[in-house]
Amino acid sequence: MGTSVDVVVIGAGVAGLSAAASLGRAGVRVAVLEAGSRVGGRAWTVRPPSLGGAYFDMGAIWLHSAETNPLVPIARAAGERLIDADGQRARRTFVDGHVAVPSELAGRDGAWDRFEAAADALLGDGAADASLAEVARRLPDDPWAVTVETWEGPIICVADASEFSLRDWRANQLSGGNILVAGGLGDFVGRRLAPGEGLHLDTPATRIRWQEPGGRVAVETPRGAVEAAACIVTVSTGVLASGRIGFDPPLPTAVGECLDGLPMGLALRVVLRASGSDRLDLPDSCSLDRRFTHGDPAIVFNAWPRGFDYLSAWIGGSLAWELTRAGTKAAEDFMRGELRRMLGGRVDRALRPGAAVVSGWGTDPLFQGAYAFARPGHAGARRRLAEPLADGRLQIAGEATHETLAATVGGARLSGEAAAAIALRTVRGT
Ligand SMILES: Cc1cc2nc3c(=O)[nH]c(=O)nc-3n(C[C@H](O)[C@H](O)[C@H](O)COP(=O)(O)OP(=O)(O)OC[C@H]3O[C@@H](n4cnc5c(N)ncnc54)[C@H](O)[C@@H]3O)c2cc1C
Repeated sequence: MGTSVDVVVIGAGVAGLSAAASLGRAGVRVAVLEAGSRVGGRAWTVRPPSLGGAYFDMGAIWLHSAETNPLVPIARAAGERLIDADGQRARRTFVDGHVAVPSELAGRDGAWDRFEAAADALLGDGAADASLAEVARRLPDDPWAVTVETWEGPIICVADASEFSLRDWRANQLSGGNILVAGGLGDFVGRRLAPGEGLHLDTPATRIRWQEPGGRVAVETPRGAVEAAACIVTVSTGVLASGRIGFDPPLPTAVGECLDGLPMGLALRVVLRASGSDRLDLPDSCSLDRRFTHGDPAIVFNAWPRGFDYLSAWIGGSLAWELTRAGTKAAEDFMRGELRRMLGGRVDRALRPGAAVVSGWGTDPLFQGAYAFARPGHAGARRRLAEPLADGRLQIAGEATHETLAATVGGARLSGEAAAAIALRTVRGT
């Protein structure tokens, strides 16, 4: 490991890899320090024997907001096979315990528009901010309001609606198409974004001394220290808040306040594999959900993606944290119980015993959750967290710091590139 470079980047997720690529193109010497033994961070494709060779994205799956997502043109230019996720998806929605008939789905199509209009009216009333939960309270007669709240709160944004900033939600709502990269998003990131040189795996940053003599930054690792003119830190807000990386001098109070305002939410993913040929009368790539009412668990399912013989659950928000604490067997049992309620005892024969995969984002010390959400009153924390410190010698980047594509690989990429542009000016003294 070189002991002196121009810029040191902490973390080889999408933000860190994107920052390193920008700096590399500008001819700057970069070291990327990654605590784990792979690149990609929360973009991670696995092919465990328990899935019989099929792949599964443990973290990021879709390129959301495809029309503006900066990774889509990269994938296209590289000749990746892209799949229109929306065009491919089938759907079964349950209402009151049975598959909904068309008349029961009346009003679902306009539900998001009604919810957004109510949210804007609430914020337009002069409220500095509110929680997402307050919107459904304004729509007591709308049979789909709690469904929108559950999707947009604990499921998509992995935060319970009462904990989640309405302003942040409005600033970050995903729009447009969703694209899948054949073979998995994590593998795509590894293939197309990993740097040719300067990458150091299994090298955790333990301490960052960011006001060294001569305006230098020194990053300590168990393999020795690296010093540089600038440092970009891309670890999650959960990792930053945990204190696993020491800062010398300590980070300013304002940064601590941003971290308090941007805690990690959690999505727990559990996968069960078919035991035989019974596909439960569900077509391939079938999303299985329900009309949610208050108190329903934040769990949705995806069956037989692209024809693979597995069915996965996505559990979000506080329920994901609870089940993570309870252990993988409890999570599997919970998933089976919910499937049984929807599809009957047939699921016990159709699905093999034992979970094929259970994600562990909540317990992994390198992530400490899935992605950050803003608490009510803290929508501005994303921008403040990204503000350069010490004339650009230290910057925090990553998904949590992007204001309009937060929590996504697209936002992580843009935040890494923005930090690289500032670090470049610091290196060049311009
Ligand atoms: C279950 C799940 C589903 C998701 N689905 C989607 C989706 O469909 N679409 C989408 O766009 N986004 C999705 N996301 C979010 C997306 O994965 C993240 O927003 C994005 O990957 C974050 O990238 P990052 O570079 O900011 O952070 P990370 O990927 O977390 O990168 C930070 C890196 O820092 C490393 N690190 C930690 N501590 C240290 C240390 N002390 N020293 C050195 N390195 C360290 C970590 O190992 C990690 O590799 C999902 C995430 C999860 C968990």
